[in-house]
Amino acid sequence: MDSTRTQVLVAGAGLAGTATSMFLADRGIEPLVVERNPETSLRPKALEPIGLDRARELGAHVRFDTELVSFEQDTLGVTARLVHRPTGTLSQVRADYMIAADGHRSPIRERLGVDTFRSGRVFLAGDAARVTPPTGELGDSTAIADGFDLAWKLAAVLRNQAGPGLLDSYDAERRPVAPELRNLRLRSAAVLIDDEDPALTEDPHRPSGRPGFRAPHVPLRQGGKPVSTVDFFGRDWVLLTGTEGGVWHEAAKHVADRLGIVVRTVGLGPGLTDPDDRLVSAYGIGHGGASLVRPDGVVAWRTDFEVADAAGTLQTVLTRLLARVPSVAVPAGTAR
Ligand SMILES: Cc1cc2nc3c(=O)[nH]c(=O)nc-3n(C[C@H](O)[C@H](O)[C@H](O)COP(=O)(O)OP(=O)(O)OC[C@H]3O[C@@H](n4cnc5c(N)ncnc54)[C@H](O)[C@@H]3O)c2cc1C
Repeated sequence: MDSTRTQVLVAGAGLAGTATSMFLADRGIEPLVVERNPETSLRPKALEPIGLDRARELGAHVRFDTELVSFEQDTLGVTARLVHRPTGTLSQVRADYMIAADGHRSPIRERLGVDTFRSGRVFLAGDAARVTPPTGELGDSTAIADGFDLAWKLAAVLRNQAGPGLLDSYDAERRPVAPELRNLRLRSAAVLIDDEDPALTEDPHRPSGRPGFRAPHVPLRQGGKPVSTVDFFGRDWVLLTGTEGGVWHEAAKHVADRLGIVVRTVGLGPGLTDPDDRLVSAYGIGHGGASLVRPDGVVAWRTDFEVADAAGTLQTVLTRLLARVPSVAVPAGTAR
């Protein structure tokens, strides 16, 4: 029997599988996507063919007419058996992780028999994870959001930038996200929330910059052109400061090198101005503080003052957020 090795096996090329594959490939992970139908779906949504083409361009492998018929997992990975439907040919895949994006009747979820979004090395995404009523018209965006969340976390773990504990935050953060509660605060080990700050939701028109909520939009000007703070988010960790954040920028460079990750620094200065003088108050960081924003645009941590050991503080913060064991060294060249 033909046997293949992959880092991530994605079962299903609906919106969840397509989005996850595209976001993974964009982060340098080349998943294998299997879809039992001969094409994306009978009624493909706009993103599916486009997203799958993009995922392929970035290195994803796609097999149509191929059904996942069984799987088992152990502590090191997942072994799945596939059948090529037109010929009946069987093949086997060994993967570090598997994503069940196989829709609302998900046989994978049935086989796992769990009511969480994760069982060991298998993650549920999109309709396989929860059924969203068609009338609510939120299933598509939920499937894409699952894919983005899984992709940045899996890529960080597979690139040795984060410990496997980061993956626990997928269930913690995605399961409570009922579609009508999109302003719900994220609570997991991948955000550092002050225990004395119990807010669960906030008015999206009055964002506070508190950890667990989406980083606020603040209009800025860069090189004379209008930009938004949110333009800086979506790929890497971002450390955002006011005009007196120099010490944090030096600390971020130092810590990023030590941890083998990318931390982009964005600070007010001659090249980036804040005409309405809103950034510092919107992010609650004071002039000498800093806000650390995750790759998905969620505030992970903030301080409203300068500290004596900025590098030490930032390293402790990122080590916790990334579920890194402090003594584990990062292989050179893993940052992207
Ligand atoms: C009638 C209807 C109307 C809807 N209208 C809207 C709307 O207007 N707006 C909105 O946001 N949402 C809408 N939704 C919901 C939305 O379509 C879904 O929530 C979303 O597309 C889920 O995508 P998915 O990738 O999780 O699942 P699916 O799109 O179901 O994809 C699952 C894929 O997995 C494949 N698969 C299954 N088992 C296997 C296997 N063993 N091996 C290989 N492949 C497998 C399937 O062939 C399929 O391609 C609607 C749903 C329905 C039913």
